Amino acid sequence: MINDYPYWTDPERDEFSVTILSCTKSDNHFEIVIDQEVVRAAGGGQAGDKGEIQFGDETEKFNDTARIDGKLVLMASSPIEPDTAATVRIDMKWRKAMMRNHTGEHLFVAAIKKMHPEIELGYIWIDGERGTVDLEGKELGFEHLIKAEQSVQNMIEKSIQVDMKLMKASDISSEVRAREGLTDKHEVMRIVEVGDHDTSACSGIHVTNTRDIGFFKVIDFKAKGEGSRVTFAAGDKAKKTIEATYNEVLRRKHSYPFEMEQIGDVLDKAKSAADERKLMVEKIVQLLTEGITSEDIGGITFIHEYIPGLDSKDIKNIIKKIKLSGPAALLLFIPGEKSTLTLSTNELPVDAGEYIAHIVEEMGGKGGGSRDVYTGGFSETEAPEETYSKIVDYLRTRLQE
Ligand SMILES: [Zn+2]
Repeated sequence: MINDYPYWTDPERDEFSVTILSCTKSDNHFEIVIDQEVVRAAGGGQAGDKGEIQFGDETEKFNDTARIDGKLVLMASSPIEPDTAATVRIDMKWRKAMMRNHTGEHLFVAAIKKMHPEIELGYIWIDGERGTVDLEGKELGFEHLIKAEQSVQNMIEKSIQVDMKLMKASDISSEVRAREGLTDKHEVMRIVEVGDHDTSACSGIHVTNTRDIGFFKVIDFKAKGEGSRVTFAAGDKAKKTIEATYNEVLRRKHSYPFEMEQIGDVLDKAKSAADERKLMVEKIVQLLTEGITSEDIGGITFIHEYIPGLDSKDIKNIIKKIKLSGPAALLLFIPGEKSTLTLSTNELPVDAGEYIAHIVEEMGGKGGGSRDVYTGGFSETEAPEETYSKIVDYLRTRLQE
């Protein structure tokens, strides 16, 4: 077992003199084999290095590195003659982003395991864009993920040194995080230690101090089986993601005025508006196909409609436009978390409120109005449809009298 890969001991070294051993054409690239283990292949949940190979006056890019049949293979788009002396340069932007994401992942999973020791790390993938982990055994709530994220951020601010050591697999204690079966596969394993916060068996590339992570952010999560899939980003990528999201919101701040701290309410409102709109469209279709609900109660025309999605201003307009003739009562009910209703009457012996105020108050609502119009509302309506039909039944009886 080689124990001095330069990407382990000196992850920031980016240039190496090598010799090309072989070059084989594959489906859509050339597999270049070099004589030294200086570039890291994809593996252990981390993507491979990228970079360029310079030979003579020419430079060829490699977009991935893999281990194929035990050999370290650089994937290039053009061939390079074997036995050529070359310089390999690692794409440090990509590598450093992987280092930040990977150490961020160790700290994040350690923080989660501190809160929920029963959770196991399943699928893992880390590249220069972001990291993804499956936390298995229990679905985690948003609050837990954010708490773990804050813990990572704290450890970044504490500038903790990241160390590595090689250990015999048989000497590794149960305190060390190691994926199941890993300690059976290898005789000697590399252990990555972040102060006394996390110790895990890992072959990936890491920052040498937590401060190099810069910034860590969970950018997405969803339930997956009996667990959660969490996506995160560190460093510049995390900052750019936050920046882009914040600016998307900021761009709309003036066309749809709100304060930034109200963004949660704005989104909630957008969701309930979408739900209400669906119900309103259904209602419009019903009105167009079946007509308005009207019945005759002892010579009084009683019209009542349940119309989602409107507001009190809309109702005022509708009431103004519907001309009632002869003795009549018109009830419009707008369902919602806070349902509202309006009863408009014409040529009835007593005030509109006399017919409806009692039932509204009995069900916890309140209201008031003029001779011909009563407006009321409920601060909380759990089953608006039920409330509506109770009011309609009550009005039938009252009008009958
Ligand atoms: Zn790792």
